[in-house]
Order: sequence, then C-alpha cells, then structure tokens
Amino acid sequence: MTTSSELFERAKELIPGGVNSPVRAFRSVGGTPFFTKRANGATLTTADDRELIDFVCTWGPAIHGHNNEIIREAVAKALDSGTSFGTPNPYEITMAELIIEMVPSIEKVRMVNSGTEATMTAIRLARGYTQRNKIIKFEGCYHGHADSLLIKAGSGALTFGNPDSAGVPEGFARETIVLPFNDLGAVQDVFDTCGDDIAGIILEPYPANVGLIFPKDGYLQGLRDLCSKNGSVLIFDEVMTGFRVSAGGVQTKEGITPDLTTLGKIIGGGLPVGALGGKAEIMDHLAPEGPVYQAGTLSGNPLAMAAGIAALELLKDGTAYDRLDHLGVQVREAIQSAVNETGIPAQIPQVGSMFCLYFTDTPVKDLEDASNTDTERFNSYFHKCLDLGVYIPPSKYEGNFISTAHENASIARACEVFAEALRSM
Ligand SMILES: *Cc1c(COP(=O)(O)O)cnc(C)c1O
Repeated sequence: MTTSSELFERAKELIPGGVNSPVRAFRSVGGTPFFTKRANGATLTTADDRELIDFVCTWGPAIHGHNNEIIREAVAKALDSGTSFGTPNPYEITMAELIIEMVPSIEKVRMVNSGTEATMTAIRLARGYTQRNKIIKFEGCYHGHADSLLIKAGSGALTFGNPDSAGVPEGFARETIVLPFNDLGAVQDVFDTCGDDIAGIILEPYPANVGLIFPKDGYLQGLRDLCSKNGSVLIFDEVMTGFRVSAGGVQTKEGITPDLTTLGKIIGGGLPVGALGGKAEIMDHLAPEGPVYQAGTLSGNPLAMAAGIAALELLKDGTAYDRLDHLGVQVREAIQSAVNETGIPAQIPQVGSMFCLYFTDTPVKDLEDASNTDTERFNSYFHKCLDLGVYIPPSKYEGNFISTAHENASIARACEVFAEALRSM
C-alpha cells in the first residue's frame, strides 16, 4: 500500500505544493494532507484505508453525498452517447429549464466550467452592459481567482483595492473597490462619490468562504436599492449557497432579486460546472447575441449536464431541504451543548446544511471579526476531529457542509466526535 505521506512526497515533486488547489495542502492547520481513494455517501476512504465522515463534501457540491447512485447512473447513461460533442445538445436545455424554474431571478442562463469562470464573466457582463469599469466587492467574500476579484482592501475605506496575489496588475486593482461586509454606510459613501462609475456590486449574500457570516437586517435590500438607484448591476455570487440553503439560494430565502447570479458547485453534481444567469435584457449582451465575449470548448458538456440535472432534480420537490435543515440543527445543538459544558468561547452560525465553528465570544459580522478568532484552538480542534475520524475543512475560514447521506449513524457519530474534541481541549 502507498500511504498518503508517500503520495504527498511524490506529488510535491510533480505539482506545485503537491496539490491542484491550495487549501488542500493543510498549510493553515499544519500536518500532511491525506489522499482519498474512494468516496461514498458521507464517507471518504483514505489511501491509508481510514474511513472519515466528511464535512467538506468536495467544498460544497456533494449535497447528496459522495457517489450518489442516481447521479452516477445519469452520468453512465450519458456516457453511452459520447463524452463531448462541440455542438448544442439537448441536456443544455433541460439544465437551463431547471435553473430558470428553481431560481426566480434567472430568465436566461449561460453554462460555464467553474465558479471562477462564472464570476469572471458576470463582472465582464456588468461592465459591458453598463459601460462602466468599477466593481465593488467585500472583504472576506471569495469569488474565485479571476484578476479583478483577487483584490484586497486598500488602506482607507474609499481607496481602491490592492492585488491579493502576485501577478495581478495594480491597474486591475484600481478598478475594484473593496469594502467591509455588513457596512451599508461604506457602500453609500462610494456611491455618493462615484456612483456613475460603478458597473456593479458582487457579493456572497451569506459569505461562506470566511466561515459563515449572515447579513445584517436590511443590508441586502440596501445594496439592492443602491444598485437600482444608480443603474449598477447587483450580482449575487451563489456558487456556494445556490441550491444549498434552499432551491432558490439566499435570494429566495431573503426575498431579494439580484440582476445577475453566479452558480457552480452543486449544479455540477460533482463534475466541473458553473453558470451565470439573470435578467434577459442583461444576459443578451453576451456573445453571440451581444458584444460581451465569452466562450468555452467544453461548456454544456453532456456528462457534466447529466450529473447536474440529476443533482437538481433530487432537490426540486424541496423535501431534501427539510431533511438537511434538521441535520444542521442537530449538529449545531450538539456543538452548542459541548460548548456550554466546556465553557470554550464559540459561535456556531448555521443555516440549513451549512455551519461553522468560530472560536470567539463575539458574533462574527465581517472578515476582521473572523480573523480575530482563535486560530490555534481551531487547528487543534481540526486535528482532534481528524484523529477521531471526522474530516472538517482544514482552515478556520471555511464553512462545513452536510449532505443527505449524513442522515444515519454518521451524523450521530460526528456529533459525539465534535463534543469529544471540544472536551479534550
Ligand atoms: C467556490 C467558489 C467560487 C469559485 O468556484 P470554482 O469552481 O472553485 O472556480 C466562487 N464563488 C464562491 C462563492 C465560491 O464558493
């Protein structure tokens, strides 16, 4: 048997950092990542033959658990007819119909291959449609790794952003304004100063790449109103929350209608898929209908569409969300009672099947609060859970996900592990 640590040594010689996406390398929690050779239901089987109950769920997509039988059969059936056509195919229509039916703000939709592609295109579309350049984004919201969005805050509230990665030109950063989340006044100030230059606002309506943060009452509506008043495009990045918190995402739950929505993760059923959709009037600015260019050799791929269609159909009648909500509450209550028992300062934001554990005694409303939580305590909690057979995200800035496949002994066992990990600290 080749162990995870042997595989990781070999991977590091061949792949930068040994991984194809940075957080997988366990750099923030320390230690060596495990390799997975198989995943089924709520469980990952590592190269070392350990079975782990998984709360990462491939970083969101696996809402029906791993290797779901219905999704697997849909992919197998599509595979019989070929892997890629390079022409339009009927799956694309079914997928578009499902998305448009389930997300009320979406009138037209374009399929892409990842969440990053979806947000990158949404930004270009907002700029092309408004013929303006500036974009507002928020600290702690992650929108993939496109240049315009890998920007962090500048020194003052009204200054433009700084590159958050080597290789992102200063010039790009100047077109992105970065503000703290949950501070409507800061957004109002920017619109007062240069409202005519703002092509759009992009945000995760529930930031979930910084743990899990909820918007203050009236915040999302305030952003909606500012965009409407100033002719700017409101983009909800629901790559994570779309089909996760409800069939219609956060926008349906909160009753806010964005102009554009980006999707990914769950809509691919475990295959690489993204999408952007919204008002037909805006979407029709995309090529070949309009002047905003966007394309993809594998976009609308039949295997990926088949997987995504199966995943969405399993969510359509809504009963899965009731079951997931129930599991989410069960986990939060189990952690809360261990927190009460141990007296460890903690916050446990949870909505449906998403939750997070912040080690702090104050509620977390933005990136700054999340940064101030106890990193050392989180890292030791992470390793304790892993030792006990439960895999949670290897960073205090990531949300946890539950799938319908957790709905058996897995959830009860995981609750015991969470409690035991807290008691051991
Ligand atoms: C994961 C994520 C992305 C990026 O999607 P990829 O498929 O990893 O490119 C963008 N926005 C949000 C909110 C995400 O959670």
